[in-house]
Order: sequence, then structure tokens, then C-alpha cells
Amino acid sequence: MNKNKKMPSILQMIKNFSRDLAIYIAKGSPNVTEEDYKERLETCEVCPSFNKHAMRCTTCGCLVEHKAKWKTTVCPEDKWKEQNDKE
Ligand code: SF4
Repeated sequence: MNKNKKMPSILQMIKNFSRDLAIYIAKGSPNVTEEDYKERLETCEVCPSFNKHAMRCTTCGCLVEHKAKWKTTVCPEDKWKEQNDKE
């Protein structure tokens, strides 16, 4: 965990969130299972790109507690288990 790692710019975070939200809605707002959600959060907790204070991923700037729920989102560093039944 690195509290001091720089976040993307506000504009870039808005772009990233808007893109993820649009895909999530377009696919019918599917969420991961509770088990996969916990696994994703556990992966973030030990990731050097996780800012625990802000609860954000410093690579994409997203709030991980929301991003991790959405089945259509991916870890920008490819650290989450793949969701095989993406639509
Ligand atoms: S989304 Fe990926 S890169 Fe970002 S904090 Fe979580 S595991 Fe790390």
C-alpha cells in the first residue's frame, strides 16, 4: 500500500469512471458474486497501487469498493480474477 502514490488527474478519473459506468449500464449492470467481490478487495488491500486512505486505486483513480462490485470492470494492472461469463 502506498499512500503517497500520485492519483491520475481529476479529468482522467472522470473519463475512467464514465467509461466504466457506461459499459456497466450497457451490459445490464451485472455484479460479481459476494465471494469474488471480497477476493477483489483483498487483492487491492495488498496492492502497491492501492491508496487505503482514499480507498482508491492510484492507477485508474477509481473507488475500489464500487469498481470491484461491477462485473464489467477490470483491474488496470490485471490482478483480478477474470470473469468468464462477461456479456
Ligand atoms: S484495481 Fe488492481 S491495480 Fe488497482 S488497487 Fe486494485 S489490484 Fe491494484
